[in-house]
Amino acid sequence: MRTALVLALTVPLARGCGGVPAPPATPGSDAGDDGGSSSGPRRDGSGEGDEATLPRFDLGARDGVVLRGVTVVGLGARDVTLREGLVARIAAVGAAAPDDDALAELDARGQYLVPAFIDSHVHLAYAFDAPTLAHGGVAAAVDLAAPLGFFATDHAPLQLALCGPMITAVGGYPTQGWGAGGFGLEVEGVDAVRQAVDQLAELGARAIKLPLGDAPELSDAEVAALVERAHARDLPVVAHALADADASRAADAGVDVLAHTPVEPLSDDTVAAWQGRTVISTLDAFGGAASTIDNLRRLRAAGTRVLYGTDLGNTGIPGIDPNELGHLVSAGLDGAAILAAATAEPAAFWRFDGLGPLREGGRASVLLLDRDPLRDPSVLAEPTAVYIDGELQPKSWTAGDGIKD
Ligand SMILES: [Zn+2]
Repeated sequence: MRTALVLALTVPLARGCGGVPAPPATPGSDAGDDGGSSSGPRRDGSGEGDEATLPRFDLGARDGVVLRGVTVVGLGARDVTLREGLVARIAAVGAAAPDDDALAELDARGQYLVPAFIDSHVHLAYAFDAPTLAHGGVAAAVDLAAPLGFFATDHAPLQLALCGPMITAVGGYPTQGWGAGGFGLEVEGVDAVRQAVDQLAELGARAIKLPLGDAPELSDAEVAALVERAHARDLPVVAHALADADASRAADAGVDVLAHTPVEPLSDDTVAAWQGRTVISTLDAFGGAASTIDNLRRLRAAGTRVLYGTDLGNTGIPGIDPNELGHLVSAGLDGAAILAAATAEPAAFWRFDGLGPLREGGRASVLLLDRDPLRDPSVLAEPTAVYIDGELQPKSWTAGDGIKD
């Protein structure tokens, strides 16, 4: 006997409410974490009193839910079972009828299902916290500068890959500004560089970050030792490099990832040198500057992998950032490309467990959307529901909250 519940409650969404918390202090709104400007969330007050159908329900003692007739983006309409934190089944519509009390059921026709996001550039030691990101639709993130103690912090429910402090010269960036509190690990000499890489690797670092372009900085020999040691430990090297000369130097040194799309217009040679490597977008951290957007367009055309990243902490929207999505569209990414940059590509690159394209056996970290993100990528910042490891997240003050430019 089937006793599964069918639940589809209508819940009023608070839009543009006056109770929006102010974003916390950001990494150096004067110095700028990475040279960007600090602009808080942009929102208008329209739509107050709007209502929308929001699939929310209390699973109670149940183990999971069947999303009936949901459109899995890239696959089509399916019945998707989320159970015990995993995507248990992706089946033809009508084929996954639950026959036990362990599963609730949700009529999700008209809704679209995509993986939750991965933000490849955040600073959680500086602002916000892991639950807040999860509420906003982020399943995993890469923290690209935090003090050593952050390795021992619990970041559930987020999967957080850490690089720890940047390895930098004595007195180098960012130790004299926003990063004075341990966001840089100061070293001198190739032996000290190698020891620093080893120390971070043993603490669990998933990447090594290196600032270039601000004196004092590591010498070429020190940079070479850093890259060699990181690669020997199977760790990618991420460079903060905003100028053409620094991005070029990073490529020559074998650096794998640009932490930001550079701001200064890149030469054709530099763009070509980044073919086959990786760039993290962070376009809104620099105000969506035309030069930055053009650099990303050219890097992508040259075959550079693009990962979605916000530089959260320097930017102020904890969740999926509608401003970043808009700038990515300006740089030529369509909905499918943005989804790839925020899900499949970073999941593979950073080796996040169980994330990436939706598949049976993967983590049940998903977004429900009320429009097709392939036609309108802005909907990605407005999920009607967020599940992280199968847990419905509380409504975020950013996600789906009517943020519009
Ligand atoms: Zn940053």
